[in-house]
Amino acid sequence: MVDHLREYYKIGDERVLEAVNRVPRHLFVPDALRSQAYKDNALPIAARQTISQPFIVARMTELLQLKGHERVLEIGGGSGYQAAVLSALTRRVYTIERLPTLAAELKEKVVRLGLRNVSVRCDDGTNGWPIYSPFDAILVAAGGPEIPQPLADQLEIGGRLVVPVGHTQTSQMLVRITRTADGFIEEECGACVFVPLIGQHGWKADGADSKN
Ligand code: SAH
Repeated sequence: MVDHLREYYKIGDERVLEAVNRVPRHLFVPDALRSQAYKDNALPIAARQTISQPFIVARMTELLQLKGHERVLEIGGGSGYQAAVLSALTRRVYTIERLPTLAAELKEKVVRLGLRNVSVRCDDGTNGWPIYSPFDAILVAAGGPEIPQPLADQLEIGGRLVVPVGHTQTSQMLVRITRTADGFIEEECGACVFVPLIGQHGWKADGADSKN
């Protein structure tokens, strides 16, 4: 899988490739899909959500430019796979998952796998996690209609926010925001497809969204 990420997708950050190589993805996918854990696909997890495709995990992580000392916020903890990759690469990871069943499973998994530098919270992550802010890096693993302003505001000067943004719920552009002393720099980093970011600064929940 790592050779594919390096050669086909041109992921160049060796620390990211090493972290992806080290994190056992099969521990984050449902038992019935374990044989597919090392294929380059997103896969369904509980509550109609997905574990992200390895390429997009590697790409977003690379865009955060982590050196090892950072405090990172993730929105959309889901299966915990992205959080585990971040955990291997940096000092401290805070992850927020809005669905209580997924958040409870994630808390249990973090303890079971001994990911001691990962904290999990069940909430609407579009408001960030103010008491631990500012963050050196923020990664949003679900697609919203716009950049959630509270997340940009919770970046350290020099900090990076990577977020999928799209006018429809079915496709997005990966955007990187870098906070500077006098504002924000915005870069477009390629098309992507994520499950919807639902919350105060995301899409409104619809009737089919059971919040469980
Ligand atoms: N990083 C995860 C990807 C999970 S899919 C992984 O590696 O598996 C995206 C997740 O974002 C879903 O679990 C969904 O419930 C969650 N989500 C959507 N909107 C959210 C919000 N406003 N706050 C926190 N989590 C949210």
